[in-house]
Amino acid sequence: MEAIEHPAKTLAEPLLADSLDLDALADGAVHRLRIALVQNALGRQVRVPAIVVKGERPGPVFGITSALHGNEVNGIAMIHRLLETFTPADLRGTVVAIPITNIPAYLNNTRRYPDGFDLNRLMPGKPHGTQSEIYANRLINRIVNRFEYHLDLHTASFGRINSLYIRADMTKPTVAEMSRILRPEIIVHNRSGDGTLRGAAQALGIHSVTVEIGNPQRFQADKVRQTRIGVRDLLEHLDMLDADHEQADLPTIECSRSYWLYVDRGGYLTVLPELVQKVARGERIAELYNEWGDLIASYQAPEDGVVVGKETNPVAGTGERILHLGVIGPPPSAT
Ligand SMILES: [Zn+2]
Repeated sequence: MEAIEHPAKTLAEPLLADSLDLDALADGAVHRLRIALVQNALGRQVRVPAIVVKGERPGPVFGITSALHGNEVNGIAMIHRLLETFTPADLRGTVVAIPITNIPAYLNNTRRYPDGFDLNRLMPGKPHGTQSEIYANRLINRIVNRFEYHLDLHTASFGRINSLYIRADMTKPTVAEMSRILRPEIIVHNRSGDGTLRGAAQALGIHSVTVEIGNPQRFQADKVRQTRIGVRDLLEHLDMLDADHEQADLPTIECSRSYWLYVDRGGYLTVLPELVQKVARGERIAELYNEWGDLIASYQAPEDGVVVGKETNPVAGTGERILHLGVIGPPPSAT
């Protein structure tokens, strides 16, 4: 069908750039950039969109990356809503928002980079590696290494759902403080030496936190809003913005560790507890049925915990995930 066209915003055309050069951008303005990372097979530049809000006054560089997994899109809406809440005149420092970080995967509506690899397992990539390694490496060297604070926005994978939760190295005081100000439903302590963008950012001295905003391939208004309020609170806490009227006030459950539970045989899976529900050791958490409808197996919580995420696809072969169990307790203290 034919579209009704709306006039574009009266901002200038996006600036084409080869890297994020913050010094070259005027203070007190919002800048839209397209930053070149690699070329596609037609020799065209693959460019990452960057929205840079440069405050009128000095302050830190706060970076937000979203859709590093191409089908995890709640973060895109969060960024757009967040940036509506302040202007460059309000801001001390710079906010750099990358609404779509993994452009090829976003276009394919997939989690992984088109060569089949997960960008969040091979960071910081390699300057002369495979396609995904080069993309990862340039993402860090051309954009992310400018950040002082960083949020990497994700969601659950296809076939699963997540609470609004944070993975962060809670032994790092600044990271722990950021996580608590963000007020997610759950914080899971996790050190991350595993090729994630968060781990690579931390190796560069950037204070980095992973925020998991619900479910893939959709916008969830409630979780987007809750995250947006928390991120705004964090910018206020860092003295980049003055306090507004909204304050995140939902309780946060902190977990000292977490892990996934898996089925040891195949069938039709039902996971019983809801997200953020507390489960007790020995409580039935899942049932497996055969193709005739008979209950063939059930699973119990191995210890007390809280449901961080869960499988929603009932089709379960041996080794399929059941749920992500968070073990409630204080994270280890600073080391
Ligand atoms: Zn992800």
